[in-house]
Amino acid sequence: DEVRERELSDGNLVYVGHGTYKFLSGDSPEHGYYEDLHDVASKDKLTDIPNRRYFDEALEREIGRVQRHGGSLILLLLDLDHFKSINDTHGHVFGDAVLRQFARILKGRLRVNDFCARYGGEEFAILLTDTGKEEARQLAESVRELCQEHMYSDGSITALVTTSVGGAAWHSDMAGSKAIIEAADIKLYQAKSTGRNKVVL
Ligand code: GH3
Ligand code: MG
Ligand code: MG
Repeated sequence: DEVRERELSDGNLVYVGHGTYKFLSGDSPEHGYYEDLHDVASKDKLTDIPNRRYFDEALEREIGRVQRHGGSLILLLLDLDHFKSINDTHGHVFGDAVLRQFARILKGRLRVNDFCARYGGEEFAILLTDTGKEEARQLAESVRELCQEHMYSDGSITALVTTSVGGAAWHSDMAGSKAIIEAADIKLYQAKSTGRNKVVL
């Protein structure tokens, strides 16, 4: 039925255009179920931070926002240095513990509006809005330092790990999310090829 105005009650289906929406009241028993589903689909299981899928969505959304309203958007890509040798030396389980601790340090250092995710195996991403390049560089440097100083440990094994960071700022002549990712990736490659454990932005 076509309706213009109506109070919704729990479980009502609403058809708008091609979409179907289900209204759940705040105390609906289904509420927790959908929240859990969203959590599972958007979080990385190992580190408990957002996953690549969720990050890609956030990036698209933020690009749309700067295209409409202006403002700045900076992408940082972080890649652990020589991580393969951590696995080779101490085993994959210890490597997993390092990734978890790294994610915790990352999350702990960011401000409320900053967004971070596990982008791939030992690669992480940070999205900064309303942040200048110099400020972004300082943030990246401080994350890099914190990670370098942290003693990664599982109780018996301990190890030090460093991180390389590449960053790029969105500009209006970029075609889309691919362009900013590629730009940050080129900088990350520069950080790697010029000695690692550094920020290039
Ligand atoms: P680089 O400094 O050039 O980045 O060297 P790297 O060894 O870190 O890079 P490389 O790409 O050669 O190796 C990445 C390693 O990360 C290989 C892979 O086994 C490991 N890795 C990826 N995902 C996971 C994971 O979930 N757990 C563990 N333990 N290791 C992972
Ligand atoms: Mg890598
Ligand atoms: Mg690496």
